Amino acid sequence: MPDPLSEPNAPTGPSDAQPPFAKRSLAAQALGRVDPVTRGVVAPLHVATTFLRDPDNGYSSGFSYARPDNATVREAEGVLAMLEDAGAGALLFGSGMAAATAVFTALEPGDHVVAPRVMYWGLKRWLASEMPRRRIAVDFVAMDDLAALARAIRPGATKLVWIETPGNPLWTVTDIAQAAHLAHAAGARLAVDSTAASPIHTRPLTLGADLVMHSATKILNGHSDVVAGVLAGARADGFWERLVAIRSGGGAILGPFEAYLLMRSLRTLPLRAAAQSAGAAELARRFQGHPCLSHVLYPGLPDDPGHAVAARQMEGGFGFMLSIRVRDGAAAAIRAAARVRLWKRATSLGGVESLIEHRASVEGPDSPCPPDLLRLSTGIEAVDDLFADLDEALRGA
Ligand SMILES: *Cc1c(COP(=O)(O)O)cnc(C)c1O
Repeated sequence: MPDPLSEPNAPTGPSDAQPPFAKRSLAAQALGRVDPVTRGVVAPLHVATTFLRDPDNGYSSGFSYARPDNATVREAEGVLAMLEDAGAGALLFGSGMAAATAVFTALEPGDHVVAPRVMYWGLKRWLASEMPRRRIAVDFVAMDDLAALARAIRPGATKLVWIETPGNPLWTVTDIAQAAHLAHAAGARLAVDSTAASPIHTRPLTLGADLVMHSATKILNGHSDVVAGVLAGARADGFWERLVAIRSGGGAILGPFEAYLLMRSLRTLPLRAAAQSAGAAELARRFQGHPCLSHVLYPGLPDDPGHAVAARQMEGGFGFMLSIRVRDGAAAAIRAAARVRLWKRATSLGGVESLIEHRASVEGPDSPCPPDLLRLSTGIEAVDDLFADLDEALRGA
């Protein structure tokens, strides 16, 4: 599928802002597109669900009904495809889970999947419950151990290797290029949940991955007011066409208003990602060696087990997520989370407001998440305030 925004029926005029401009420049101007009717510098919000047929019964605009396609959704998809260097383009879904599950829905009965032991809990639970019903076997392995991945792959049978890096909530790092090499050697695709990295810090398709998925609910939107998901593809092959068909046939497209809000957010993504990642790095440094903590988990720390790989495959920072482990255990961790005043005690991540969460309470007994762990999503508040608030909460707990 060609880039939808360069098709003749694209909703806006030709773009002035094309490479060699930096991604940050292209994002700031939403690819420089101008509304052809008004010359407005912001693309209009297209809400129509149905479109007039031509007298000869055709649809010369390229649009017939809003479930398979929507012009506002295409605008945001164009920017996401640019950010990810996606040859096939990008597809927006109604949530991150809708995007991720579309990939597994495209598999055939009898296929084998390798997925991480440490991954987004909601998707792991969905895989465990839904894949056996479709006669698809899933092996969960430690993805920071390439030998373990190599052992789990069954040449010919494994059709998909799914990784998440950094992996929620321990922020373990997987070597994308090496995982792609192992997957491809066995005839499998590599898909990467890159939500915690964002396209600003990692571009998996340039490292050999076939598919990238994001929960756009997180830093892509960044304002905690849209639920959305995206897939970006390296090439428009038959599998990608399956994903397009699954989205349109299954009715999983993002709504136009959400796409409009997401588009607005993507213009400032490079700034937000840089600030949030710098804040997380500073917090990780300042919390290291804190008397109330046993561990600070952040791939940007030089002694983090994932640091060497992260330094190779991430650019411009190590992301906005970190976790801390409270020395006095689970009850002390929950007490500390109860005492913060500035951090918001809530699930989710990537917004401009900083969030703290006791993950084990959410993930339950099957989770690899230690019970003393607090997950921190760094926003854009003053780092001194964030540090002082949590420091006081930990000491008081
Ligand atoms: C939130 C999240 C998801 C799921 O996305 P939703 O938009 O909540 O459906 C998947 N993967 C990761 C890493 C996430 O953080």
